[in-house]
Amino acid sequence: MANIVAIVGRPNVGKSTLFNRLVEERKAIEDNLSGVTRDRHYGHAQWSGKFFSVIDTGGYVTGSDDVFEKEIRKQVKLAIEEASVILFVVDCHDGLTGLDKEFANELRGTDKPIFIAANKADNMEKMLMANEFYALGMGVEQIYPITATSGSGIGDLLDQVVSCF
Ligand code: GDP
Ligand code: MG
Repeated sequence: MANIVAIVGRPNVGKSTLFNRLVEERKAIEDNLSGVTRDRHYGHAQWSGKFFSVIDTGGYVTGSDDVFEKEIRKQVKLAIEEASVILFVVDCHDGLTGLDKEFANELRGTDKPIFIAANKADNMEKMLMANEFYALGMGVEQIYPITATSGSGIGDLLDQVVSCF
């Protein structure tokens, strides 16, 4: 079974920024992954000597509430089917939103490992906001505050993610 990390979460939380940081120059070889849906962004990454693929599940939401709902289902279904690990991204700048809760509810259906990355933890005040996401009730031991734009916190998160492989 391939090591595949799917990045899920509502629009604008920083999924694509995180994806780009994880895959970096390896983007050139994206799309070589076989047996997975093609209309998504795939990339290859490595951490601590472990290789894995990353799926950026977002980017298709544009409109009404029902489009959101459909998109959520689609993203989560893809993640649950194809990923070995799910990276659920939320946003310390906006805090916990209704859409985050909808994602959480959809994700409760899986027994795949889920990590919550609280992005935009740009400073101490925002880092503390990360604790708010325990209220999602995902049963995670830890919420990882990260800053996708600078890379801060991503190492600690990846240490745990690759321990699943
Ligand atoms: P996506 O819709 O979830 O894929 O989100 P994007 O990766 O497109 O990012 C949405 C916006 O958030 C962009 O303007 C990013 O530059 C910004 N962003 C991403 N990560 C961070 C971060 O760690 N801190 C801050 N302040 N902004 C961020
Ligand atoms: Mg995106």
